[in-house]
Amino acid sequence: MSGIIKIFCMPYLLSCIHLLPDGSDLTFSTKSSGHISILKYRPSRSIPSRHFIASKLSLLIHQSAVAFFARPKANLSGCNCFLYKPAAQLSRKYVAIMKSDGGRHMQVLRDVLEKAQRDGVGVGHFNIGDFVILKAVFASAQDLKVPVLVGVSEGERKFLGTRQIAALVKSLRDEFDFPIFLNADHTHSLASAIEAAKAGFDSIVFDLSALPFEQNIRQTKEAIEALKGINPAILIEGEIGDIGTGSEIHDAAPDLSKGLTSPEEAKQYVDATGVDILAPAVGNMHGMLASMVQGTTKKHLDIARIAQIKSATGVFMTLHGGSGTEDEDFRKAIAAGINVVHINTELRVAWRRGLERGLANHPNEVVPYKILPDAFEAIKQVATSRLKLFNSTK
Ligand SMILES: [Zn+2]
Repeated sequence: MSGIIKIFCMPYLLSCIHLLPDGSDLTFSTKSSGHISILKYRPSRSIPSRHFIASKLSLLIHQSAVAFFARPKANLSGCNCFLYKPAAQLSRKYVAIMKSDGGRHMQVLRDVLEKAQRDGVGVGHFNIGDFVILKAVFASAQDLKVPVLVGVSEGERKFLGTRQIAALVKSLRDEFDFPIFLNADHTHSLASAIEAAKAGFDSIVFDLSALPFEQNIRQTKEAIEALKGINPAILIEGEIGDIGTGSEIHDAAPDLSKGLTSPEEAKQYVDATGVDILAPAVGNMHGMLASMVQGTTKKHLDIARIAQIKSATGVFMTLHGGSGTEDEDFRKAIAAGINVVHINTELRVAWRRGLERGLANHPNEVVPYKILPDAFEAIKQVATSRLKLFNSTK
């Protein structure tokens, strides 16, 4: 499908984009003639997706409108101009990107999750508490040529810097043209979620699962409106049920059996909030027991429940607390509808063991880049084995 649409204003352009069939990719070169822009569209794998451009345009229109009406004496006759200008700038930017990119595909997280769902694979999510972990996870994903999500909790953001970690991940994505995405993991306040959205995170886990159900629904809905106003392409994940707290080594297993998510409440929650992604409690648990670290016991998942929740809601689903889970359960969970799998504690254990080995191997060394490769290798080994498993379709 290809053609040209003449557009007279940005809302009209947006409505044209939304009329195109799903899967159409777009390129648009705006040629200015008064207030008329021209949108050309043609199918191609080498250009940003329809959804991505529409999202960017929504954001630009919103920002331009706010700036325009904030002027002391707003002149309404200038409406077309203020709407047109950002589009022209945006199109110039994409033309430049497409040229410099040599026609390679730019993806957004939603595209990656949709593809994973179609292919029956899971996207690995790894928490990155420091640069060595980020480097090791990125190297694993690069070796395997699979997309990857990296996450930072509120505690990790406080330590690393919200904008600083966003800049680091963006630099990897841009320099290597690689689908690495950044998630604000377990965010408990709107202020902290807004900070992440403004810093350019691709997704946010807005976790009010500790609150009563109705309150969780109301506040999550409000948060989604605020966050999509900052970046319409951002994906918001909501959580219900009890999966414990702390990606650490626990002395005893908490009793989470009463906090399992039911398909009915999952549907009610998704319908009422409009979350893009749901994090259910399906036998998963944050952290690991010492016996799981030793490998003598494993976590098991309620696969039937995952399938029921998926068919009731139809949304993307994340499995939190994946560390220490039986391999076969992961495969079945992905087949039943899980799209993203979180691994944190296993990486933290590898980080510590690798670091201890590095220090033991170099007792008199003070140069970080001579000590840290042991930690890097240990983390990379874990990340690689998990990514291979999640991306296998057997
Ligand atoms: Zn989690």
